[in-house]
Amino acid sequence: KQEHLRKPDWLKIKLNTNDNYTDLKKMMRENNLNTVCEEAKCPNIHECWGTRRTATFMILGAVCTRACRFCAVKTGLPNELDWDEPERVAKSVQLMNLKHAVITAVARDDLKDGGAAVFAETIRAIKRANPFTTIEVLPSDMGGVYENLEMLMDAKPDILNHNIETVRRLTPRVRARAKYDRSLELLKRSKELQPEIPTKSSLMIGLGETKEEIIEVMDDLRAHDVDIMTIGQYLQPSKKHLKVLKYYSPAEFNELREIAMTKGFSHCEAGPLVRSSYHADEQVNAAAKE
Ligand code: SF4
Ligand code: SF4
Repeated sequence: KQEHLRKPDWLKIKLNTNDNYTDLKKMMRENNLNTVCEEAKCPNIHECWGTRRTATFMILGAVCTRACRFCAVKTGLPNELDWDEPERVAKSVQLMNLKHAVITAVARDDLKDGGAAVFAETIRAIKRANPFTTIEVLPSDMGGVYENLEMLMDAKPDILNHNIETVRRLTPRVRARAKYDRSLELLKRSKELQPEIPTKSSLMIGLGETKEEIIEVMDDLRAHDVDIMTIGQYLQPSKKHLKVLKYYSPAEFNELREIAMTKGFSHCEAGPLVRSSYHADEQVNAAAKE
């Protein structure tokens, strides 16, 4: 049996809590909002909420219809659709004075539109209340239905992000019900629908992939016109989740970033603590300069 690997020092981060952070947490509870920053206990929360003014909201409830083996979100039958959620998210973006808001969602396979209508309304509500905030959306594959993607892209987010998460070979084991090629297709179609909106995808590593397989993901993303890539270390959220098979060193992440840049991405963020939404504010600017 596989032994647990020891966590390297560069991943041991102490969270310090300050007043600003406590106030923001309180506001999230008062507005009945979920953030990935909190749910995933993201180590970057102080930097993102405090300094960079970025946060990742998780809409459409806190219960997912899928059960990916790396993800800490609860699985089950989701709550009823909450049509007030878009306005509450928009208000919070305003109260947090965010420069960049990332909106993600659980997979709603119970809904015909995969949650696209609420997603689109959330983008519109944020824009109405916060005309200077850039918006990045991170939808599920919404069942691979083209019309759902179209509904979302019509609301004109600033970045369309859809995570490939892992290499082709490991996808069936890691991502429940998602398909590697369906994710690539979604990214390509987003670009076809709105060519001026940059597309982005994230890969987490440490699940047993080889370097060649990582490079294959880079090539596949570029072949589907993806502009921005992020690469981060997989961390096991609990003992029930997939084990970490390798901790990559900061130097290895740097090397991967350099390889990605030779493939033609406009921006690549890679590092042990890099998450899909980490430094996302910079990527909008980088993409805008293209
Ligand atoms: Fe939130 Fe993403 Fe920043 Fe983590 S990296 S705190 S999830 S915005
Ligand atoms: Fe987690 Fe998304 Fe998978 Fe649901 S679809 S289990 S939220 S990664």
